[in-house]
This record gives sequence, structure tokens and C-alpha cells, in this order.
Amino acid sequence: MTINHERLAAVFTTLCEIDSPSKQEGRVAAYLKSLFTDMGAEVLEDDSAKITGSNCGNLFVRFPDGGLPKDPVFFNCHMDTVLPAIGVKVQRHGEVFTSVGDTVLGSDDKAGIAALIEVMRTLQEKQIPYGPVEYVFTTCEEVGLLGVKALDPSLITAKIGYALDSSGINRVIVGAPAANRLKVEITGKASHAGLSPEKGISAIHLAAKAIARLRLGKIDGESTANIGLLEGGTATNIIPESAIIQGEVRSHTLKLLEEHTAHIRSVFQEEVDNWSDPDGNVKGRPSLDFKIIPDYPVMKLDRESAVIKRVEAAAASLERKLDYVVAGGGSDANIFNGYSLQCAILSTGMDKVHSTRETIKLSDMAATAELVMAIVSQ
Ligand SMILES: [Zn+2]
Repeated sequence: MTINHERLAAVFTTLCEIDSPSKQEGRVAAYLKSLFTDMGAEVLEDDSAKITGSNCGNLFVRFPDGGLPKDPVFFNCHMDTVLPAIGVKVQRHGEVFTSVGDTVLGSDDKAGIAALIEVMRTLQEKQIPYGPVEYVFTTCEEVGLLGVKALDPSLITAKIGYALDSSGINRVIVGAPAANRLKVEITGKASHAGLSPEKGISAIHLAAKAIARLRLGKIDGESTANIGLLEGGTATNIIPESAIIQGEVRSHTLKLLEEHTAHIRSVFQEEVDNWSDPDGNVKGRPSLDFKIIPDYPVMKLDRESAVIKRVEAAAASLERKLDYVVAGGGSDANIFNGYSLQCAILSTGMDKVHSTRETIKLSDMAATAELVMAIVSQ
């Protein structure tokens, strides 16, 4: 098993220097399409672009027959990067890659893509037999997992897979919370604040009373809640008719997610219901529109599950020990698990991601490629 480090470095640099901020992954997709077609893969681009607003779809790359009878397995990376991501120039000092400093590097998630390319090149070049493999490259991961949410899971044959999308090395993420986004709209009644305040209902006042009663931050060992956006009103001399509050709840347990979400809803409902008009001057009552937008489902993989056993065996064949950890955020893997495809997240070595100080070591990318190669060929 000999990964070609310099070839990996070259393809990684090329990928990073093809700008692909979210919704503009088209050039990376075109590059991958042509590269994998040349390698003999079946390549398919779906029509998710019309849902995501990206300039390309998700990409499915299949190597159905590597000569080894094994259960099929898929690997996932996202093609988009966070901003600033225009004009990426890669710098290399020995083993270490960075951008020149004015953009992200894009190792999140191109380190994973480069590793997957190198795996298949090595398998083909050395004629190493491997089981059926699928690569799923998504768009718009960084802006709400839009690509994976818009894909048709029946296009994936494998029942288990791995997202290469985490910092660290020899880490496997086996759990991540589910999340609900909340959009709350309180409608009161506008009136002149100086001339006829008794005829108005302040939506902002009702919102404030409700928010003050909420438990936010870390609510319990498994759950968090946040109110992140608040807007309303039109002028200082007008009683605000509208207040729009946006927030989120996350939990590693679905039941707690539902309970906390329901509690927040009931607090807003109570404040609106308890509003009273002592003098009977207001025509009307306040109203509440409480929208719950499920963001991503919970991810919780059992240590005895096929997906964990397979990576554990692969790591053992390389005499490596894996760390199994639980993450605090959602990623494409949450959605795959929601589709009933067991999906764990593997580390690629990327570091300081989502910053212009993002960095990765070539040896970590190569180690990631070796683990993937063991998963498909051992
Ligand atoms: Zn990522």
C-alpha cells in the first residue's frame, strides 16, 4: 500500500486553487467529472442545482467492480468551501500547506477529495483488488447542507459510508446532534407611540418578555438553545407591530430536542395569550406564528454497527488506534444517517478550518488515504 505523496500533493493543490465557494462548485465538479471518467468510473451529476441554487449538482462516482467481493461502501466529501475563497493560492512549506493568507485554504473539504482520488489511482496502478466503491461529492454543505438534502439517496447503492470531513487524525465521529431552526413572528398592533399608545400592541415587548423566560445556552448535558436574530419595528415613535425572532435548538436525543422546542413554543404562546388590554382601547389581539424548521436529524452510531466495525478492522490492519468522538454540529453525515445510510465522519488532518490560517499536513492526508484504501481493499 504505497500512496504517492507527491501526486497527492499536486492534486490537492490543483483542487484548492479551483475556487468553489458554496453555490459555485461547478468548476470543481467539471474537473472531477473528467478526472473520474478518465479513470473508468460511472459518473452522474444529479439535478439538485435547481433546488440548491448552485451552478452544478451533486456528483456520484461509481467503481462497481474492483474484483473483490465485499459489501459496497460510499465516501462523501463536499465540494464547496467557506469564504473568503476567491483566488486561492496554495503555499507549501515542507509537509505543511496553507493559503497565502487572504483566503481559506479549502482543505475543508478538498483534502478528503484529494485523498479519494489518490486511493483510486493507487488501487488501479498497483492492481490491488477492491470492493464496490461509490464517491458522493455534494454541493452547498457549508450553507445548510443544501446539496445532500436535495439528493436522491436511491442513487447510492451502498448501505454504509464515511464522510471525510473532520479535523484531527485517526478520529471517527460517531455522534452529532439533531437541530431545529425556529422562526417566530409576533404580530401586535401599530399605533403612534406619543399620541395614542393605548391603541397599540408592542410586538417587541411581547417578544422580550418571552425571550427573558427562555433557558438558553447549554440546557442539559445533551442540548443547547440559542436566539440568534431579532428584528422588528419601523420607527422610534411607532409601537412595533411586528417582531421576528430566529433561533435554534440542538440535541443528541430526539426526545429532548422535541421537548425543548415545544417548551420555547409554549413560552411564546403564553406571552401572546396572556396579553391583556386593561382599558379596552385596542381593537384586536396579538398573534403568534411559530415555525419549526427541522435542520438535520440526529447521528448516533453504535460501536457494533457495520460502519464502525469496518473502519475499526481497516485501522487494525494498519496497526492504528482510532478515537471515537461525538461532535457538536451537523454535517452531510447527519443527513445520510437520516436517509438510513449509516455514515461516520473520518478526520483528514485539516486544521484551523473556516479561517485564513487553515492548514493541513501532507502526511495526514496520506494517512487518511491509506485508511480509506484499507476500508475498500482489506
Ligand atoms: Zn467540511
